[in-house]
Amino acid sequence: MRSMVNCHPFVLHRLPHHHLFNHFRPFRFSMSAQLSNVSPQSQVIEAPARVGFLGIGIMGSPMAQNLLKAGIDLTVWNRTKSKCDPLISLGAKYKSSPEEVAASCDVTFSMLADPQSAMDVACGKHGAANGMGPGKGYVDVSTVDGDTSKLISEHIKSTGALFLEAPVSGSKKPAEDGTLIFLTAGDRNLYETVAPHLDIMGKSKFFLGDVGNGAAMKLVVNMIMGSMMASFSEGLLLSEKVGLDPKVLVEVISQGAISAPMYSMKGPSMIQSLYPTAFPLKHQQKDLRLALGLAESVSQPIPIAAAANELYKVAKSHGLSDQDFSAVIEALKSKFQHSENQ
Ligand code: NAP
Repeated sequence: MRSMVNCHPFVLHRLPHHHLFNHFRPFRFSMSAQLSNVSPQSQVIEAPARVGFLGIGIMGSPMAQNLLKAGIDLTVWNRTKSKCDPLISLGAKYKSSPEEVAASCDVTFSMLADPQSAMDVACGKHGAANGMGPGKGYVDVSTVDGDTSKLISEHIKSTGALFLEAPVSGSKKPAEDGTLIFLTAGDRNLYETVAPHLDIMGKSKFFLGDVGNGAAMKLVVNMIMGSMMASFSEGLLLSEKVGLDPKVLVEVISQGAISAPMYSMKGPSMIQSLYPTAFPLKHQQKDLRLALGLAESVSQPIPIAAAANELYKVAKSHGLSDQDFSAVIEALKSKFQHSENQ
């Protein structure tokens, strides 16, 4: 694939210094001779590909924007076209179907909501697979289950193209900051081809072997996160009920061994019953559901995650699907407990 990639120069700006060194590793970037007398923000290097991006949602939008800002030749598509407009005004090209994007690009990334939409966009009518072929690559960064990922992989590979699953750990802010963590699996050659792009969008990347391993790793991580948030919600409400200040609880937690950035980031707004959406609650419940399926496939009990899943389902039934997943705390509040009993 690498030999077929369309090389063109671009200016690498905004990347923190560590990104530049990441770029040296697996790839053949030629750093300009003026390396020593230019700032990291203005070095001219060669990029490997015309890149497509399908799915311009909360995550896809900043990820695509970081590729654009790094000078990548980017073509975008989204089901709701208007979400592409800010990227188009920044210089992205637009095509009206995943098929056309894939046909016009060397590598196409997709960031879709769930298994169904990931399948539709990759393999459906006018899906990306129709535009794929030898010398191209498809990188699915959506969070889906391993079986879905394997189906998409088979479909893409039947065209002669390469496939990489690469779900991300990290939310809206890391997507904006280019500090995501990629959990990749599939074609190693494609991993190496897109390593520079992953380094633009992320701070680290893992190659985990066969397709399905990246999906499984992501689901395990989000299973833990979903339970952590449910438990934190119980703690915030219990502390308040017994007359403690939940703000002090957040402070106490932040200084001890169970400290996690998530608690300090989300706690203050949760105390004010505010849930600005970074990770939609419906996606957290989807991930718990998929993790339950994964656990069942190997007969592993995960009772804490199963209980947490029920709580997210209650929150969804109260119309909180599109709020941040921290809104799961609402499902524990007496107004909802009360209405459940009516
Ligand atoms: P989002 O804002 O809801 O975006 C979902 C994207 O999927 C949108 O582009 C949406 O298009 C598209 N889509 C949904 N159904 C579709 C369909 N049937 N056909 C075609 N396109 C469809 O979600 P997000 O937060 O960006 O998350 C995207 C993925 O990343 C999910 O798998 C999520 O679990 C995962 N993830 C999210 C986070 C996070 O913190 N947000 C972190 C890590 C991983 P429209 O704009 O037309 O609706």
